Amino acid sequence: MRVLVTGGAGYIGSHTTLALLEAGHDVLVVDDLSNSSEESLRRVTELTGRTPGFVKANVRDEAALDAAFAGFTPDAVIHFAGWKAVGESTQIPLTYYRENLGSTFTLLEAMAKHGCHRIVFSSSATVYGDMSEPPFTEDAPTGATNPYGRTKHMIEQILQDVAAADPSLTVGVLRYFNPIGAHESGRIGEDPKGIPNNLLPFVAQVAAGRREKLMIFGDDYPTPDGTGTRDYIHVVDLAAGHLAALGKLAEASGYHVWNLGTGNPTSVLDIVKAFEKASGITIPYQIVARRPGDVASSYADPTKANAELGWSARLTIDDACADAYRWQSSNPNGFADA
Ligand code: UDP
Repeated sequence: MRVLVTGGAGYIGSHTTLALLEAGHDVLVVDDLSNSSEESLRRVTELTGRTPGFVKANVRDEAALDAAFAGFTPDAVIHFAGWKAVGESTQIPLTYYRENLGSTFTLLEAMAKHGCHRIVFSSSATVYGDMSEPPFTEDAPTGATNPYGRTKHMIEQILQDVAAADPSLTVGVLRYFNPIGAHESGRIGEDPKGIPNNLLPFVAQVAAGRREKLMIFGDDYPTPDGTGTRDYIHVVDLAAGHLAALGKLAEASGYHVWNLGTGNPTSVLDIVKAFEKASGITIPYQIVARRPGDVASSYADPTKANAELGWSARLTIDDACADAYRWQSSNPNGFADA
């Protein structure tokens, strides 16, 4: 099928674009490259022997989006594009609301105008907040504790309303847990700008000598070793989840939500150990205060995605650390090395 992928040059977007091309689908990426590099798409071409279409535009740009839909006539859309840093979202909330909500409005209007009836949306396990105890099922209470999370939560509600109003529209919301790792080739991976907020890229940069040591945010949580636990999922498994969701939406109708996670909680110290094993490098760390806003533990109940999508995570934390280290060590400065 023909799939328009917003944010397709980014971390999860590029891995999903690769998986779509490998599965024989045609892809048009719409990305403004504000937090990504076109080099990721060149490498997707190198890896697959196929070239995705590319439009450099912000998804809020109505004219650009209209032209993209008119030219490509997509059967489905995957909507990754968005701003995603929790801390930054508390500093510039209006930017987050404008970009994340605005792009979704423009996209849904273009879909309606051009008769495209299927959308997969990148949501986040952040919508489970601290309102209930993990493992989270899709019907657990949702909300959010910061502007970034609120944009994801609001977009879920908007999609639900739009799907209720338009029976021809089929929506799949994917709530990602913690994506990590890289393609096994080491040619594409996560390339955060500035100091990484997330654990894995930070650990990878310590291993590569770009950072002196890891700060572990708290070791007094009610978890087995006191450090926070998360459901880390290999980005290649996550990409496969999008293909499974697209396939399911082809035979479904209405609004659907699926968790994409492994179901296994892993601690910060477990990640440090796995990365040391994968890289052969000792990761110096220091225990510091808890990071404001962090929960002790977050992990999925992936039963619904397993059953309805026929999808489950296959790769391990060790695989993810080995792949992340391969990507980081062969591209110490990310795509800027190209
Ligand atoms: N973490 C840490 N040091 C860092 C970054 C993260 O100890 O430099 C911890 C954080 O407190 C949490 C886990 O690693 O327990 C995952 O954090 P991340 O920001 O990657 O994802 P989150 O689940 O917070 O979105």
